[in-house]
Amino acid sequence: MYPETLYKLVSLQSIEACNYNDTNLLDILGIVVHAGKAFVCNDDATRMQEVVVLDRSCVAVRLILMNQFVSEYENEVQQSAGQYNTLLACGVYVRKMNAYFLITGRYTRLFINPNNVDASTLLDWFVCDNFAKRKMKWFNNCGLSINRALSTSNAIRTTIASYKRKRKGKHYRMVGRLIDIDVDSFTWYDACTFCGLDIQHVSEHMICSNCNKEKPPTTISVSGYMTILDSTGTMCVKLFTKQIEFILHSTKAKLKHMFDAVHDRVLLRAELLTRVRNAYIFVFHPLHLPAYIVDYVTYVDWAEECAYLFKMRSTLNVRQQ
Ligand SMILES: [Zn+2]
Repeated sequence: MYPETLYKLVSLQSIEACNYNDTNLLDILGIVVHAGKAFVCNDDATRMQEVVVLDRSCVAVRLILMNQFVSEYENEVQQSAGQYNTLLACGVYVRKMNAYFLITGRYTRLFINPNNVDASTLLDWFVCDNFAKRKMKWFNNCGLSINRALSTSNAIRTTIASYKRKRKGKHYRMVGRLIDIDVDSFTWYDACTFCGLDIQHVSEHMICSNCNKEKPPTTISVSGYMTILDSTGTMCVKLFTKQIEFILHSTKAKLKHMFDAVHDRVLLRAELLTRVRNAYIFVFHPLHLPAYIVDYVTYVDWAEECAYLFKMRSTLNVRQQ
């Protein structure tokens, strides 16, 4: 059975600040909001399964089950996803690759729906928290990759006015309407395939100063500026290929074609203007950069936004009482 008093839970929100080393074992408890299918790695020997758990901090984190945990829990985990079930994971490791995640190891023990106070308290909270339930629903229906969905869903919600005053370093998101698109600012450039940043031409050499690589493989990319609006103000943001493709429902090849001829640039402008007034969720790049760089763009789930606003309002009311 689970060791009732032998675990010390950490909030999923605090994991980002944990040490990514092998001596730091964590105990976490969350609602299973998503479970991927088990798969075999390239080496044919390792089996893995991705699970996403959510706790009261409303942060969702990826937990990767390895080998024996896949054999043991594969079906149970799969069936518990999205079905109001809890997962207690004792002794998991924190890893970071682009984003932080958890992984099972030698000392891990897993318990699905443990029969204890922590689990029932968490479930009681989840059943009553409309936003958390909406978040689970969004996660399973958004159609984004797990990384992108997690990054969007965990990004700190803010407004244009307060984002401009904030220190960067974390992912922030805001809901904004496109109000202006500067087609003439669209620039085509060679990007490093590894990091997506601009390649510098130093004398005869091509260098990615970000990856510190000479002659990295390159891919043609586009960037451009758009202006977004919310109830607190406007902001000029910089978008890159993927986000521009998303907003235009287009491909890079088509964009390039539209951009090349003078006549087609008019087409590009017309095409973009049909998206003006559309609202999107913009997720911002955590680095402190001179321009407001958009990491992800996705559609707004208004039901989730409303649930969030109601949650914020009731939290404020409780504080005022
Ligand atoms: Zn690079």
